[in-house]
Amino acid sequence: MTQFSPLYEGKAKIIYATADPDILLAAFKDDATAFNAQKRGSIQNKGVMNCAIASHLFRYLAAQGIPNHFIAQVAPNKMHIRRVEIIPLEVVVRNRAAGSLCRQTGLPLGLELNPPLVEFYLKNDDLGDPLLTGDRLRLLQIATDEEVARIKEMALAVNTHLSRFFAECGITLVDFKLEFGRSPTGEILLADEISPDSCRLWNQDESDPEKRILDKDRFRQDLGAIEDAYALVMQRVLAHSVS
Ligand code: ADP
Ligand code: MG
Repeated sequence: MTQFSPLYEGKAKIIYATADPDILLAAFKDDATAFNAQKRGSIQNKGVMNCAIASHLFRYLAAQGIPNHFIAQVAPNKMHIRRVEIIPLEVVVRNRAAGSLCRQTGLPLGLELNPPLVEFYLKNDDLGDPLLTGDRLRLLQIATDEEVARIKEMALAVNTHLSRFFAECGITLVDFKLEFGRSPTGEILLADEISPDSCRLWNQDESDPEKRILDKDRFRQDLGAIEDAYALVMQRVLAHSVS
């Protein structure tokens, strides 16, 4: 495979061009960041584990009718993806209260949210990824009203499918962050990654509030055994069929 120079190096992945202008190569890194990159470190083997988990989940979601950018996993930590124009939003879906929702509202950790909460944050590290209101979203003209409605509908459908998938793995999907993009024909595609970096995942076999954590909160909170948690997620996800 010809090695192209990186188009973009982010916090978790390096994006390369390929010989096909519609296809990019995403290489997953072991680098870990939290709190808007104020905390930095490395999680051994994370690139390989997140690439395997994301590849499997994208295949599963495609089988459930969710259009996404995944084409194929081409190396342990690399996938081919369809190039999209990323919409600079972090779309967060929450099934239980955790993280910034608890800090900002006082809701207790783990409170069930029914219906699930869908939130839009501006994807801009310099501005600290602020929470947007509907009016601010419209003001910034980041996406049309039609696109925003489509993104919300897709995010909720992803939640329905992933919540069931993870429940069948003995894992509670607490919340997660998605990114979407526009294909060259204007179709909205689910993009970026779905991994323990971007989801809160609780092991249903553990009641202890620290032991049950299987995601990047172990890194954020210095809980240790981060690699083991990611490996457990990978093992259970890969053991689940993709259809
Ligand atoms: P970040 O530090 O911005 O979170 P990552 O390292 O996670 O970056 O990912 C690299 C970049 O790749 C991100 O800006 C992400 O939005 C972008 N990206 C993800 N999927 C696609 C795609 N299909 N086409 C183009 N860019 C993408
Ligand atoms: Mg990212």
